[in-house]
Amino acid sequence: METLEERIKAGIRDVPDFPEEGVIFKDITPLLNCPELFHEVIEHFRARYEGRDIDHVVAIESRGFLFGAPLAYAMGVGLSLVRKPNKLPHKTFGVDYALEYGTDRVEMHVDGVDDDSRVVVVDDVLATGGTAAATCELVERCGASVVECAFLIELDFLNGREKLEGHEVHSLAVY
Ligand code: AMP
Repeated sequence: METLEERIKAGIRDVPDFPEEGVIFKDITPLLNCPELFHEVIEHFRARYEGRDIDHVVAIESRGFLFGAPLAYAMGVGLSLVRKPNKLPHKTFGVDYALEYGTDRVEMHVDGVDDDSRVVVVDDVLATGGTAAATCELVERCGASVVECAFLIELDFLNGREKLEGHEVHSLAVY
């Protein structure tokens, strides 16, 4: 009997040199196209956060939306979006973070989470951790607290957990 991690890994396709040379892109579309497995992933997260007084799921653009939205729906809690710059229509908070070359930025609506909310942050892949760390900063700037950061995939060799120090991290398939 395969474990959930083994089944998830079977549903992830490695695409070498995408979007640029040297990157092995973790393509989650086979998993999304397998209804039993997709359901199992969302159900795993739902059960994990049940009874932990979660108020909001905060999902990171763009593939984080694919897991964050069904999770928020299944949990019966609010969904707030963290997006690339200038995508959100209302007033936003933004956090800039360093990349290997240059910087990037994520934004969230100022009313995305309430100031005493307990939040789960969701994305598909934890790589260097910069995006998730900036997202935690946004959530905390709103006065809310991050209960855990949840990922489908963790690329352990990129040490994303170090950037998320002080936060709980949960991932389902570790490479
Ligand atoms: P990072 O800020 O380095 O942790 O990057 C996280 C974001 O980049 C996530 O939103 C992922 O969707 C995406 N990402 C990074 N590396 C990969 C990869 N190898 N395959 C697919 N997505 C990736």
